[in-house]
Amino acid sequence: MEQKHIGQRINVTRTSMPPYEEYIKAIRPLWDSHWLTNMGEYHNKFENRLKEYLDVPELSLMVNGHMALEMTIQAFGFPKGSEVVTTPFTFISTTHAIVRNGLDPIFCDIKFDDYTIDETKIEELITEKTVAIVPVHVYGNVCNVEEIDRVAKKYDLKVIYDAAHAFGVKYKNISIGNFGDAAIFSFHATKLFNSIEGGALATGNIELLKKLYDLKNFGIRSEEIVVSVGANAKMNEFQAIMGLCNLDYIEGNRKKRKKIVKRYREWFEKIEGIKLMKINEDANHNFAYFPIIIDNKVYGMTRDELYEKLMVQNIYTRKYFYPITSDQACFKNRYKNVNLTIARYCASRVLLLPLYPELADEDIDRIAGIIKFQGVK
Ligand SMILES: *Cc1c(COP(=O)(O)O)cnc(C)c1O
Repeated sequence: MEQKHIGQRINVTRTSMPPYEEYIKAIRPLWDSHWLTNMGEYHNKFENRLKEYLDVPELSLMVNGHMALEMTIQAFGFPKGSEVVTTPFTFISTTHAIVRNGLDPIFCDIKFDDYTIDETKIEELITEKTVAIVPVHVYGNVCNVEEIDRVAKKYDLKVIYDAAHAFGVKYKNISIGNFGDAAIFSFHATKLFNSIEGGALATGNIELLKKLYDLKNFGIRSEEIVVSVGANAKMNEFQAIMGLCNLDYIEGNRKKRKKIVKRYREWFEKIEGIKLMKINEDANHNFAYFPIIIDNKVYGMTRDELYEKLMVQNIYTRKYFYPITSDQACFKNRYKNVNLTIARYCASRVLLLPLYPELADEDIDRIAGIIKFQGVK
């Protein structure tokens, strides 16, 4: 009789969009200007509004988060073969951005409470070839920015934060884009905030900002002068307008997400074998993701079994992040062999539950109920 419980398909996320008429009205001027890309009016407007919203000194819009990260790393001009200490518990983009710059990722294990890089293990991985640290504020959890900063200063390393998950997060009342030498954001459709696709680099370093402006437009400085080997990573006007429209709804969405997370937490506090991520009391969380870690020995079922059980009920969770990036076919056994016990433990047990502003209480209860009763009761 399980059939009758199957409701509408629920995905792990649902892209936020402004009302149709609002976007259509907003893009209407493009049919007059015929200016669709190359740092247009809306690109510049969006850049300024984001700079203000994210409260960062400088910001450069990019076509997506990946290119923001890859080009930021490129802009530092590290010698090929240099080493970058990073986390393997992330989206593949982080590691790709390092390797595509001809640098070697040195994977560092993570912490069990919030899944960010274990700052106490960074120092032992540093060699004379190390040039940078690329940590990730995974699920919007703030890395130990003070300790990372201390280590970076001691060894004269650059710190580039992958803040793709951390839109709107503040740490000790300071916006997350202000830590390290640079931070990158993603505005992909599946993220907390989107401009269809999109990304940005935030920095206080004007030189870096200028380099990024060249790099994202083929290294073109002026009509007849090309100063660097760039590529094309510019954000177009349709993206910028979507971003501008969506920005008006971000606070309302945040409140809805907060309520959903609260309801989930109430359910899971009573379930043995399910661990929730630790909330940092010094940070304003953005409620972008809701990961649970399943201890199969206590819970009585593995993560993969639960994933399947939910899927049968039309609930599509994600094993995010599994496997860790260092174990992917393209990277396995290529780089320094480091003990990544905690990262692997988490990756094999983590499940991301559906979380988006429109998720109804009944849906939350249905999802949590299946997890509590290990199937439909
Ligand atoms: C999404 C994401 C990226 C890449 O951003 P895109 O906008 O999709 O290119 C990079 N790092 C992390 C951690 C991400 O989640």
